[in-house]
Amino acid sequence: MSPTHAPALLSAAVTAAERGWPVFPLRPGDKRPAGHAEARCPRTGRCSDGHRTPEQRATCDTNAITTAWQNAPYNVGLATGPAGLLVIDLDLPKDADDTAPEQWAGMADGLDVFAALCEQAGERLPFETYTVRTRSGGQQFYFTAPEGRTLRSGAGVLGWKVDTRAWGGYVVAAGSTVGGRAYEIVHDAPAAPLPAWLCDLLTPEPVPPPMPVHALATHMRKTSAYVATAVVGELEKVQSAREGGRNRALYSAAYALARFIRLGDLAEHAADADLTAVGLSVGLSAGECRTAIRSGFRRGGAGEEVGAA
Ligand SMILES: [Zn+2]
Repeated sequence: MSPTHAPALLSAAVTAAERGWPVFPLRPGDKRPAGHAEARCPRTGRCSDGHRTPEQRATCDTNAITTAWQNAPYNVGLATGPAGLLVIDLDLPKDADDTAPEQWAGMADGLDVFAALCEQAGERLPFETYTVRTRSGGQQFYFTAPEGRTLRSGAGVLGWKVDTRAWGGYVVAAGSTVGGRAYEIVHDAPAAPLPAWLCDLLTPEPVPPPMPVHALATHMRKTSAYVATAVVGELEKVQSAREGGRNRALYSAAYALARFIRLGDLAEHAADADLTAVGLSVGLSAGECRTAIRSGFRRGGAGEEVGAA
């Protein structure tokens, strides 16, 4: 079969695969995957070793693609995760009642919201990349995902009508037709690397790992065992404080340690450094740490001049 005479959908599947984007069949005229759902898996054939999801079945093998697409006029599913892609999917409202929530008031669609996100980040619209118009008139911007990052699909993760397609999801590839309307390439460029600021927005904030308290108290060698034990005990109280009580716990720890500072058994800068480190490790801001520690020290009498009133 020569490409010229190949059905359009086979051609679309092969074209995607040639870009290195694994594909799988979607039901003809539909966006749902062809084949059985996991709940109805017969555990035979390709699933004899367990159900295989579309993401697992997707392939760039043109022979396998040709065989599959000769069976039926399947639409083309593109497995974004295995393709190494992160697709930003800018959607339109479904109907007149589908309006932006408070946070995005006044925005007409996903494109508006995405433009606002770019503006907030002080970045340009990153639209010099492979772009598809969906059957509903939405737009999908294809980016290559950074190496070593597993970005997942999400609905509305960046804002109203702004979805992402990566691992755990797929897009309907250009050349497919759903409900009589086509998915079309509107900008045929290579997929650009995902801008770093977008990658940051899509990567959840890492939870600070609990810091081993003994690693914090760097000044301990010069301190008596009694004071060292007291310092570790105070730092542990901050670490185990519940959310909402951490600020108060840090203040209390500073207050308790102020006594040793006042007596000259503990250096104020060392106690300050340890308390700040433990405060930051439980999620307090630098400013919150500074305020709590300063006021704890002051109330506890640290730094008082001898003879002060
Ligand atoms: Zn199965």
